[in-house]
Amino acid sequence: MTRILIAEDEPAIANFLEKKLREQGFGTKIAEDGYSALYESLSHNFDLLILDLGLPGKDGVEIMEELRGQGETIPIIILTARTSVKDKVIGLKGGADDYVTKPFSVEELLARINLRLRSRQEPKQQPEIVLKVGEITLDLHAHTVKIGARTIHLSNQEFILLENFMRHPDRVLSREELLNYVWGYDYDCDSNIVDVYVGYLRKKLGRDTIETVRGVGYRLKLL
Ligand code: CA
Repeated sequence: MTRILIAEDEPAIANFLEKKLREQGFGTKIAEDGYSALYESLSHNFDLLILDLGLPGKDGVEIMEELRGQGETIPIIILTARTSVKDKVIGLKGGADDYVTKPFSVEELLARINLRLRSRQEPKQQPEIVLKVGEITLDLHAHTVKIGARTIHLSNQEFILLENFMRHPDRVLSREELLNYVWGYDYDCDSNIVDVYVGYLRKKLGRDTIETVRGVGYRLKLL
């Protein structure tokens, strides 16, 4: 099923969009603020993002910058009340694929969504969907992790954490980097959530897979 993430803080619009998209057979999810929009967009669970620019927490432009900065290629259609040419240029330069202004016609929005989804399906350089480091294989599409032939079951957060390690093999990643990438916002800075999740990964993948680099962070070890 093609899944669309709706980043929109106005419930009336979000619910209306959700209803219309579901009628068309799309799977949907609503993110009501910038942080959850960014987090969900990075989850690889969606095929397209409809992005309101004025969102609480993080605004749409910041979200696009972070997504594109991390190499995330999800098609983005901006849906916003900001109609100035300047805003459109900022949006499109910031990495959006299309721009629809409110009030909008559902038919037009659907046409643009379908256009974006179609051009995505055309063969071009495929984004990397299988990461391999040493014995570990992580399939972003199937959402599976294997060590050799053995399948390892990970929670969503563990999966994203491991993905981040595998995208930077042999590099030391700081707690802040990992926190930002996996949890996507300023978690309580004293929180040891990163350490806790590294512990979970070690338990599942083997004690030696992730090395602690004192005072710096963690590094994935090539098995
Ligand atoms: Ca808004």
